[in-house]
Amino acid sequence: MTSEAEATVRSWEQPIETGEVPESGAEFDAIVVGGGPGGSSAAGYLAKAGARVLLIEKEVWPRDKICGDAVGGKSLSHVEGLGVKEDLEATPHFRVTGIVFSSPKGNSVRVPLPEEDVERLEAGYALPRAQFDSLLFNRCQSLVRDAGGSVIQGGEVRRVLFDDGNGGEDPGEGSGDARHAAGIVVRIGGRKGEERTFYTRELVGAAGYRCPVAYSVVESTYGEEMVDRDHYCGGYREYWRNVKGCGENIGDIEIHFVDTVIPGYFWLFPVSENVVNVGIGMVVGLLNKQKKKLKALQADVIANHPMFKERFADAEMIPKSARGWQLPFGSPRKKNSRQPRRSSMNGIRLVGDAASLIDPFSGEGVGNALVTGEMAARHIMEKKPFEEYQDEVWRVLGPELINSYRMQKLSRKSWLLNWFVGKAEKKPALQEMMTEMIASKEAQENLHSPWFMMKTLLF
Ligand SMILES: Cc1cc2nc3c(=O)[nH]c(=O)nc-3n(C[C@H](O)[C@H](O)[C@H](O)COP(=O)(O)OP(=O)(O)OC[C@H]3O[C@@H](n4cnc5c(N)ncnc54)[C@H](O)[C@@H]3O)c2cc1C
Repeated sequence: MTSEAEATVRSWEQPIETGEVPESGAEFDAIVVGGGPGGSSAAGYLAKAGARVLLIEKEVWPRDKICGDAVGGKSLSHVEGLGVKEDLEATPHFRVTGIVFSSPKGNSVRVPLPEEDVERLEAGYALPRAQFDSLLFNRCQSLVRDAGGSVIQGGEVRRVLFDDGNGGEDPGEGSGDARHAAGIVVRIGGRKGEERTFYTRELVGAAGYRCPVAYSVVESTYGEEMVDRDHYCGGYREYWRNVKGCGENIGDIEIHFVDTVIPGYFWLFPVSENVVNVGIGMVVGLLNKQKKKLKALQADVIANHPMFKERFADAEMIPKSARGWQLPFGSPRKKNSRQPRRSSMNGIRLVGDAASLIDPFSGEGVGNALVTGEMAARHIMEKKPFEEYQDEVWRVLGPELINSYRMQKLSRKSWLLNWFVGKAEKKPALQEMMTEMIASKEAQENLHSPWFMMKTLLF
């Protein structure tokens, strides 16, 4: 490959040019806070619909994001819709063809993804988020700027500004529906940087699990609970080279229910170029109760577990790749009718992790971030009342999130995992059912039918 071609291919390791920072006081049709998948999607779709958008990201590209790096089928229609699929396919990535699950006892079952989806390149990928996010952000920032908007990198949103809806003063904390978003204050260029203020009547909060816009909606405006430790998961990731038994550019990703990690799992997700994303995740409330540390748990599995120690015998960890982060799950909370928590108010819509929408069984959140980014953009363009956004989020994502929460709770029981994976290992009908359930929402309904489950499990 020529050095010119190499430079193009590895574009995600280069800085991204985003133009001038607008003057303080500028007004926009919409302001999007956060440039991950949720924010890029919202900003990209808004710009495609003709809105003048300000997209603000705290970090400066190239930047890392702690993740398992699996991008499922749900994401791919938006990757295509935003015009990133071709770019993505021209860069190194791992094509996922199946998922291997193993039980604490060591039984394992391979669930192939539907062949037609794999052939159409619509099943799923795994690639470092540094790469995926850069391609997505780069495309969306250019859509934003082409539509007359602006983009800021290295800009940390510090505060949300509100008024009473008549251009008056902020009516104060806990004032609920009387408030309307009016703008944000951003600090540009690090701790000692200058603050600038930008105005809008339509704000999208997409800054991940510690999104300042989400705090200002959930806690300061409505006095509700932002973090519920029973619905947050701790996640820890490392990149390794030369792990035995992992495919190079195409193959399976692996989810292992290991005794010491229950309730939670250990994953091996190859991301191409002989690199594997290796990680561990566990619900924070349970992790604290058991006084476990994810990094130590992972080191122990890699060094001592009979299924893995040989596979890691010649492997080495990529320096500085060890990092932890939190996953706000979309599982329904007991005390909240707006499941999983409030995601909109006058002039604000929250997307992705800012709205706590990660699948509580698989840990996937990229798809739901992209889906809600599109939804928020559509609701803004169609000038829908803010309550309708909250309703649509739960109508579209609720059934699968409820289902995944049930599966997560079942997976806390080692004996049940041993029994289920043991059965599935020997029963092709069960493997087919799992393939269908991964691929289609309708098939997930079967999980609610005791007759269907009993028939498939027992006969
Ligand atoms: C260990 C781990 C493993 C995971 N594995 C998977 C997986 O394999 N597949 C999957 O689909 N999902 C996975 N997830 C979940 C996934 O990473 C998230 O759901 C997804 O990143 C959500 O996208 P988002 O755009 O909502 O938020 P983020 O990706 O968190 O993006 C938020 C952006 O906002 C920026 N920001 C933050 N604060 C500010 C501020 N004040 N002002 C401006 N910008 C700000 C951040 O820098 C960031 O770029 C995993 C998560 C973890 C932690």
